[in-house]
Amino acid sequence: MALDKDVLDQLLDTLGRFVREKLVPLEHKVAEDDAIPPEVIAAMREMGLFGLSIPEEYGGLGLSMSDEVQVAFQLGQTSPAFRSLIGTNNGIGSQGIVIDGTEEQKQNYLPRLAAGEIVGAFALTEPESGSDAGSLRTTARRDGDHFILNGTKRYITNAPQAGLFTVFARTDLESRDARGVSAFLVEAGTPGLSLGPIDRKMGQKGAHTCDVIFEDCRVPASAILGGKEGQGFKTAMKVLDRGRLHIGAVCVGLAERLIRDSLSYAMERKQFGQPLAEFQLIQAMLADSRAEAYAARCMVVETARRRDAGQNVNTDAACCKMFSTEMVGRVADRAVQIHGGAGYIADYGIERFYRDVRLFRIYEGTTQIQQLVIARNMIREAA
Ligand SMILES: Cc1cc2nc3c(=O)[nH]c(=O)nc-3n(C[C@H](O)[C@H](O)[C@H](O)COP(=O)(O)OP(=O)(O)OC[C@H]3O[C@@H](n4cnc5c(N)ncnc54)[C@H](O)[C@@H]3O)c2cc1C
Repeated sequence: MALDKDVLDQLLDTLGRFVREKLVPLEHKVAEDDAIPPEVIAAMREMGLFGLSIPEEYGGLGLSMSDEVQVAFQLGQTSPAFRSLIGTNNGIGSQGIVIDGTEEQKQNYLPRLAAGEIVGAFALTEPESGSDAGSLRTTARRDGDHFILNGTKRYITNAPQAGLFTVFARTDLESRDARGVSAFLVEAGTPGLSLGPIDRKMGQKGAHTCDVIFEDCRVPASAILGGKEGQGFKTAMKVLDRGRLHIGAVCVGLAERLIRDSLSYAMERKQFGQPLAEFQLIQAMLADSRAEAYAARCMVVETARRRDAGQNVNTDAACCKMFSTEMVGRVADRAVQIHGGAGYIADYGIERFYRDVRLFRIYEGTTQIQQLVIARNMIREAA
């Protein structure tokens, strides 16, 4: 259900001010410290940002997809590490429960996720299975009314802070594909669950990933998401569909921020006696970035609207993710170019965004995987 327009406008207004006045001035510090200050996390909790997409009956804001992308456009205007902190609670770390969880699982976890009391993490990727997620090797062997988990999950966002992991493991030990996979809700602190050291990443400092290791980790059968074995992969795919639109919207916000910064730099900086912005070759870069960001914004808004109307947007959500993440890569590259040497120097922050945005083309399905999704759907529809 969509928020009342006045309430949404108020939320967007408050968020816009929070981003400009509190988050933007902290971008450099967060990257240097590789940590988000606790008072910022508290303010994000206060604003309800951990529960954007969790239904109101479970304590969230219950935003429609159209509302959520408007919020993501705003959050995208600053370092993506801030968005990443609340990203899993709104996306891959909660939506499995929202979409397929039992009522008991919803009651137990969603209010705490919505309030930001616990952070959710989504543990699908493994050392040997990334794009080919259906081939995952983590096992969940039944032992009476329990399952025993063994395996390693890799690059799991927010794992170091997480209180709850949605873990994908093979319950049909004879199977080799996605059909034998189930999803489990495993709480941090469960004996047999441990974390690897925090990964050192190219960008998005302040957001953390690490390995999650299961060694004879015993969980009750009631921990199976939705209570049914063999549904895990279907749940994962449903969750990723929504996440693709969210990521697309974040990339639009980031591109718009970079275009704004590039334009003001080009208007201020003079060479050959005139502002850079007067040179047509610079204008071409600005115009290309503006047109591409606008195209991505329109795609995301339209696909979100159709998803809210109950249409299947699997192909178009993949188009949004692919186009927006590639688009922001080109925009960030042009931003570095427009800034010249300053674009390469850390103090200006542009090179940081250039590194930060690189991730969007890799996680939640690489560009190549989006291409496969789009083309396979096209072929299926035509057949
Ligand atoms: C910072 C970060 C955070 C992450 N957070 C999470 C998380 O929270 N939870 C989680 O489960 N995972 C997470 N991941 C993992 C991420 O989703 C995977 O890295 C991604 O899906 C790609 O898998 P891979 O790294 O194994 O690459 P691979 O699958 O090995 O792919 C390598 C290259 O081959 C290409 N390729 C693979 N298959 C095909 C094909 N059939 N056709 C054409 N090209 C192909 C890929 O597009 C890519 O270019 C995160 C990763 C990073 C870096």
